[in-house]
Amino acid sequence: MRHSTISEILSRLSQWYSHERDKYSFRKNRTPYSTWVTEIFLQQTQISAAQEKLTAFLKKFPTIASLASAEESAVLEAFRGMGYYSRARNLHKGAKEIILHYGGKMPREAETLEKISGIGRYTAAIIASIFNGEKILSLDANHARVLSRLFAVEDEQGTARFEKTLREKGAYFLNEAEDAGEFNEALMQWGQTICKKKPLCHICFAAQFCRAYEKGEEGAFPRKKPPRVPVEILWEMFLIKKDGLYGVVQSPVEFPFLRGELLFPSIVRDSNNHIKGKLPKGLLLSLANERGVREVIQPIEFTHSITHHRIRVVLRASPAGLKELEFFSCGELLKRCHSSLMQKALKAIDNAVPAFF
Ligand code: SF4
Repeated sequence: MRHSTISEILSRLSQWYSHERDKYSFRKNRTPYSTWVTEIFLQQTQISAAQEKLTAFLKKFPTIASLASAEESAVLEAFRGMGYYSRARNLHKGAKEIILHYGGKMPREAETLEKISGIGRYTAAIIASIFNGEKILSLDANHARVLSRLFAVEDEQGTARFEKTLREKGAYFLNEAEDAGEFNEALMQWGQTICKKKPLCHICFAAQFCRAYEKGEEGAFPRKKPPRVPVEILWEMFLIKKDGLYGVVQSPVEFPFLRGELLFPSIVRDSNNHIKGKLPKGLLLSLANERGVREVIQPIEFTHSITHHRIRVVLRASPAGLKELEFFSCGELLKRCHSSLMQKALKAIDNAVPAFF
């Protein structure tokens, strides 16, 4: 693409974005901290869907210090409904690290930002480009979509070549752009509102320069790898009830799914019946002692998906005795368990009890 074309696209983007910029309140009076929180909320979520929750979160935790000193449960509660709770945990952890290692002041250089929990390459680039003027592309899915279409990039999405090519293409614009932060945000907004999965080329200010549009293949970029066949998983959950309360345990880092979440005691197997994870460690022994009793009760079953895994969940009532468990009522667990899998399990139990026990 010619230098003059790059300049023309930049100029049209800037003009278009000057009307878009102020539609969202979080872009006003922002700080590196509020920008960080905003980016965490916007990952995997449309701006319109996240805005209300984001405003409430920033009202509750207006500073790094207020977030760092909060209880984890309060942070997760304020994040409720956004999914991906590990993001909220890392945000909380990152805030504590900033208090501990950076005197409570958020660094502005991308290289330093990337060392903080909860700040990946993308978020570091956004903050550093806005607040430190660094000319780095904050390559997210929106940037990737627009750039791959504009230049009809043939590399497959998700490969190192794809990223390298897009960073090269992005650099053409960044070298020309007066404000790197504004360019990164404008490009993201372009991808979110016009060059969407189903692109609105008829209203796009850059259609006449877009190679994918010229080919009539705008929906075919970015080029995709062949779809992955989902991995089949059997997940047995054991319901251990004591005085009307259910036993749960926090899953450790070595557990294959939903790390850090409160889960019912579980055994996760692959399609060859090999155990991929068990929770807690003494579960198998305890179940072996009780095998005859639990098998007579009809289990509850449902299916669930977690990135590339198709999971058959089997809930079994069990009298197994385990020391590691904490006990809560079903209502309390609905508040404390954030994963959609546990929410599904709890609702299934709620519908089946008392027939289940
Ligand atoms: S013309 Fe269509 S495909 Fe190309 S950048 Fe614009 S919206 Fe995207």
